[in-house]
Amino acid sequence: MLQLRPNCECCNRELPPQSTEAMICTYECTFCRSCTDGVFKGRCPNCGGELVRRPIRPADKLARNPASTERVLKPHPGCVRAA
Ligand SMILES: [Zn+2]
Ligand SMILES: [Zn+2]
Repeated sequence: MLQLRPNCECCNRELPPQSTEAMICTYECTFCRSCTDGVFKGRCPNCGGELVRRPIRPADKLARNPASTERVLKPHPGCVRAA
């Protein structure tokens, strides 16, 4: 099951489970769309893999299987932290 991490690893923007801006790799490294396109050009900086849009978990399933609240932040070249 996907963790559904709560933020962009690069700019720390909020990425709630219903966000269509969340992009993940096969290891669930999680980024917002603007960092994915602007900073990483669609490639995960951790594993080199493809970043694709994170699917939205239906609300009733989310109630039973809640999203992760553990924030992951890593410094990558080009990342600018959102305030
Ligand atoms: Zn970002
Ligand atoms: Zn990755």
